Amino acid sequence: MSEVIATNQTILVVGGGISGMSAALEAAECGKQVILVEKNPSIGGRVSQLYKYFPKLCHPKCGLEINLRRIKANRGLRVMTMTEVTNIEGEAGNYSVTLKTAPRYVNENCTACGACADAVEAEFDDEHNYGLGKRKGAYLPFNQAYPERYVLDPAIIGTDDGEKAKAACKFDAIDLDMGESESTITVGAIIWATGWRPYDAGRIQPYGYDRFPNVITSVEFERMADPHGPTGGKLLRPSDGQEAKNIAFIQCAGSRDRNHLAHCSRICCMASLKQSTYLRERYGDDAKGTIYYIDIRAIDRIDDFHQMVKQDPNIRFVKSKVASITENKENSNPVLHGVDTEGYHRYSNEHDLVVLAIGMEPSVPANGFPMEVVLNEEGFVELDEKNGAFFAAGCSADALDVNRAVQSATAGALRAIQVVNKVAGAEG
Ligand SMILES: Cc1cc2nc3c(=O)[nH]c(=O)nc-3n(C[C@H](O)[C@H](O)[C@H](O)COP(=O)(O)OP(=O)(O)OC[C@H]3O[C@@H](n4cnc5c(N)ncnc54)[C@H](O)[C@@H]3O)c2cc1C
Repeated sequence: MSEVIATNQTILVVGGGISGMSAALEAAECGKQVILVEKNPSIGGRVSQLYKYFPKLCHPKCGLEINLRRIKANRGLRVMTMTEVTNIEGEAGNYSVTLKTAPRYVNENCTACGACADAVEAEFDDEHNYGLGKRKGAYLPFNQAYPERYVLDPAIIGTDDGEKAKAACKFDAIDLDMGESESTITVGAIIWATGWRPYDAGRIQPYGYDRFPNVITSVEFERMADPHGPTGGKLLRPSDGQEAKNIAFIQCAGSRDRNHLAHCSRICCMASLKQSTYLRERYGDDAKGTIYYIDIRAIDRIDDFHQMVKQDPNIRFVKSKVASITENKENSNPVLHGVDTEGYHRYSNEHDLVVLAIGMEPSVPANGFPMEVVLNEEGFVELDEKNGAFFAAGCSADALDVNRAVQSATAGALRAIQVVNKVAGAEG
């Protein structure tokens, strides 16, 4: 940590998702010195957990790969993983920032050979798969992780597993004595790109996410659909491991609801439309999808995608806010209850699996910022001059799709560059 060279002409980017990566690259490729800090062991953020991107249905892995290549090639950009900002003091053009880095217990000698993972026994819920599968106590966060370096779970330090991991490593890469470190750096501007987290589905009581195993969230469904995910791409019911061919997608799960998130999360309609194509891709004519929606929010080329899905005879649209879900005790099928607002008739529809299009909320709660920041009512960072040179990018500014998140990141980079250029100009 002590080798961090940062000055008031340096830009700090906090959060290594697609927005933070984009902002960092834009600034670094303009010749600025950039430090990118990420709290997780790898950068990539939540897009690394998606199977495909709407509207093109391409794999996010391609875009990530291009960004990673650009990051590796840029000497003005330093990536620090497992690092968080604990304090910020100062003003635009001159901030003093305290960073805290958690121990990885694996140093740069790591070749990602995986011998440590083979040696340890303890398993933990796999965060990358939203807990749908397990990972070892020594692990690579996901197959495209950067840095491509293993990490030891702190829970195995001081146990036999920790020693086994160390003994298995031929490259002297495991350091069980590694500790937390802290440093203070100076930067001129800060781009805050800490992104979003899924709204807690358990709080939407009538949908029974915590009670019924076959009610899952849209983020879990992304992992299930991914051939590299916990089910090898099979859409399996958590209750019995049977394939789910008749799937309901419920829109606005937590969003546009004063009891939960008042805002529209913007991407959920498109996420469900996209996920209905996963179902068709996997089970062809046997697939039956039903989308329960209030209204579909899709414009421009995104509406073309909506129209394409609407043409599909195997995907049904029901205009209704689902009132509640119960469970058929005999087969664990979720049963959806509500009123179809087009025909005004009541329904009780049974499905194999229900996917809640869960809303997006800021990943950092209002009281979790390391300095005073102006936020809007939903907790997203405002563009406000009181925030000085602290600029939000991507989903820390609003619930956005990737296209808009990257635009927001470019705007954040430009604002930060303007600040550090001014500093440079003033210092001659
Ligand atoms: C079900 C679903 C499907 C989706 N599908 C699509 C799609 O097909 N196409 C599309 O365009 N969009 C899609 N989206 C939206 C997409 O996921 C977001 O646009 C994207 O993740 C935004 O990236 P971000 O970098 O702003 O945030 P994130 O991806 O959340 O990245 C933020 C990063 O910051 C890190 N971080 C958080 N807090 C801290 C901290 N305190 N210190 C340091 N680091 C921190 C996180 O670990 C993370 O790496 C989907 C969303 C959902 C819910």
